[in-house]
Amino acid sequence: MDKRKVMILGTGPAGLTAAIYAARANLQPLVVEGNEPGGQLTLTTEVENFPGFEDGIMGPTLMEQMRRQAERFGAQFETGWVTDVDLSVRPFRVTVNEQDSYEADALIISTGASAKLLGIDGESELIGRGVSTCATCDGFFFRGKNILVVGGGDSAMEEATFLTKFASEVTIVHRRDTLRASKVMQERARQNPKIKWELSATPVSVKSDGKKVTGLLVRDAATGENRVIETQGVFVAIGHSPNTAFLRGQIDLDEVGYIKTDGFSSATSVPGVFACGDVMDSRYRQAITAAGSGCKAAMDVEKHLESSSSHDWSQSAKEHEPARP
Ligand code: NAP
Repeated sequence: MDKRKVMILGTGPAGLTAAIYAARANLQPLVVEGNEPGGQLTLTTEVENFPGFEDGIMGPTLMEQMRRQAERFGAQFETGWVTDVDLSVRPFRVTVNEQDSYEADALIISTGASAKLLGIDGESELIGRGVSTCATCDGFFFRGKNILVVGGGDSAMEEATFLTKFASEVTIVHRRDTLRASKVMQERARQNPKIKWELSATPVSVKSDGKKVTGLLVRDAATGENRVIETQGVFVAIGHSPNTAFLRGQIDLDEVGYIKTDGFSSATSVPGVFACGDVMDSRYRQAITAAGSGCKAAMDVEKHLESSSSHDWSQSAKEHEPARP
């Protein structure tokens, strides 16, 4: 079995920053890429608020540069998805793609968060046939069409604004009459003449002609009546949920599924396992905060490995053995 000092699970800004720091600390980290190598920034266009890039930088370019920076210091990358971990043994066991097994003295979990779905009829079935969770990926296919963006947060404002580059009209559908989005993002959307609004409208189901999307059935919050908004595309932009299913029962998570960390540090409930980025941060969720937490995780790992080199891990594993489902 391949044995590593440190494995880093996930390659968004948190995981890649952790990889840069861990590699520079000579820990030769193995970084498992995950389903979305580069994380959410690879699904976005221009990043205007990452310090150091006066004129902005394209998200995919930023992630590619971070990855090359980590490789330059000796980080190794493995393409694949972590399907199982065993945190009850020392070293920890990690299974990638249900077949490759690794052992690691320490783990950094930076698996991020994925787009949420509405969970309404027609939605999942019509993904790729008019329903999307990624404007950057699919916007091109909606050139000259009328489309909807569901959500009232910054993601919805950003997606809607971006989609006006392609669509002839973009309607933001939100379940309340006030938006959650920041003032600056709201203003940008409001000033865009191609953006229309359907507020106090709760999505009920996605309508189709059997092949592709034709409309969204919504319930009016004031009247309680249902009506169909005709459209050729529905972009769901209602936030994200943390990618922690593979950890359930082995590490402390909050009620939503985010990994709990200890105060200022990246330490989790399992000694030797550290978490950074969106998988443990439901509040800030910015590339720069994720990168900062990745740095902290790598420094915490370094300290942990130094202080634990003479520690009896078999005893520790018993002490901290979590209840597996
Ligand atoms: P969010 O702030 O949690 O907003 C989610 C929106 O979706 C809310 O308006 C919510 O409605 C709505 N929603 C959730 N579940 C729904 C459901 N089942 N049916 C209908 N509507 C539903 O998520 P976000 O917009 O992804 O933003 C997350 C974080 O990332 C925020 O901190 C944000 O500032 C940040 N962000 C920043 C940028 C940027 O600065 N460029 C871009 C994107 C995101 P309610 O309001 O009624 O709850």
